[in-house]
Amino acid sequence: MSAPLRVLTLAAEAAPFVKIGGLGDVAGTLPAALRALPAPVDVRLVLPLHNAIDKTQYALTPIASFTIAHADGPIIAEVFQTTVKGTPVYLISGAPIAASPTVYSLDASLDGSKFAFFSLAALELARTLNWRPHVLHAHDWHTSPALHALSLRRARDEFFRSTSTLLTIHNLPYLGVGAGPSLNKFGLPPAQGSPLPKWAWNLPLPIGLLTADKINTVSQGYAAEILTPEFGSGLNEFLKTRADSITGILNGLDMEAWNPETDAQIKTRFGLGEWDKRGRNKMALLQELNLDAAPKRPLLAMINRMDNQKGVDLVPNALRGIADRGWQAVILGSGDPDLEDAARRLDDDFSNVRAIIRYDGALARRIYAGADMLLIPSRYEPCGLTQMIAMRYGCVPVARATGGLRDTIIDYHAKGQKNSTGFLFEAATPEALGQAIRRALDIYQDKRRWHGLQRRGMKRNFSWRRSAEKYLALYEELVI
Ligand code: ADP
Repeated sequence: MSAPLRVLTLAAEAAPFVKIGGLGDVAGTLPAALRALPAPVDVRLVLPLHNAIDKTQYALTPIASFTIAHADGPIIAEVFQTTVKGTPVYLISGAPIAASPTVYSLDASLDGSKFAFFSLAALELARTLNWRPHVLHAHDWHTSPALHALSLRRARDEFFRSTSTLLTIHNLPYLGVGAGPSLNKFGLPPAQGSPLPKWAWNLPLPIGLLTADKINTVSQGYAAEILTPEFGSGLNEFLKTRADSITGILNGLDMEAWNPETDAQIKTRFGLGEWDKRGRNKMALLQELNLDAAPKRPLLAMINRMDNQKGVDLVPNALRGIADRGWQAVILGSGDPDLEDAARRLDDDFSNVRAIIRYDGALARRIYAGADMLLIPSRYEPCGLTQMIAMRYGCVPVARATGGLRDTIIDYHAKGQKNSTGFLFEAATPEALGQAIRRALDIYQDKRRWHGLQRRGMKRNFSWRRSAEKYLALYEELVI
């Protein structure tokens, strides 16, 4: 193709503006990676100008103002532009976006209005700029209303007639429950009589899944799993009818931001094979956490949101089951109060466990650089970043074999284990997790084998370049 492909990406969050989870990483990093390809893509990003965004940090130029129709009367949208690493970013403001103090609220109607308004304003913006996207790329339920609107209009709207659509699922269970009535007020009706199950007719993500030309998830493993009852959030039968349009593209890792050779926040920077230097990070961490200064004793770690998804509840009993094995552990996370309490109790009961209940990016880095193993017992994991970061820092993952974890970690005991980078287990039970840790502890005793695991993990290339190439191929399929 001679002229660059034009892609309009809509997301609820994107780094560096605002980041709550993996979606923020993808939406923030993928545009620059697409622009860095040999055949660059003219990708532009649209975000809500959330109250949570620090407006003083960016040079924001007002570029457009228009109204969006609503049952209670038109609502003004104002658009500001800035540029990040060569990517034009459009930030949309308006009353429904200003109405909630946080990026996501617990009030479904607030979020419904915010994201329906945002999605419609993003489409209107393209028209106002007279910038015709070849592909509209939406992420999760928040921007699915744009796909819905486009499917209603495309046939009779000359401007968008040749725009194709892609929906990326980062986390299927977030369907946008309760947001439907707010969408209806913006003129987006329920998908009555559609092949979706009846209960999903007025939910934004299912309607996005119904109307998107193509769908992808953030790993191949998760793309297959969402077709099953266990992971399909009740949509698996419907999704099977769309199976030909569903693919998986693994998220990349920002290999510069996560690099033990240059990380300014760790005690001693280290590269491949520099195990003594890595050991200094372990010692510093043990000291910081007031654990025994016992470098030979394995240090287990866990870093995540305390959420049922992450299987945090499996950890206390798993650790209790291996209490005889001489290890120390650190748990860093915050979220569900019950899970936080369970971690605190473990800290109280065991002198060799520290539970640190907060979000602390710098401490997370010191843990990746100093701990021996990272426990990731997720019930489901669309992609997961922690296992990639851990491997890059020589911290060996012990993870449940699901979604992106299964796709990125090669189990030590799998066939052809000479490529192995960690330990995987199947059942979401404390026993299965405990057994996997036991297997890891056994191998830990053999330094040569352990260093092999670390070395292979550190050598893995999880760069965004590969993912960007796959997104480009998908975009190209859509416009042919
Ligand atoms: P998810 O997006 O589902 O939360 P990911 O594994 O994709 O999970 O990404 C989690 C990211 O958040 C990783 O960069 C991890 O280091 C970081 N993180 C999670 N919890 C904490 C915490 N309590 N303190 C610091 N960083 C955290």
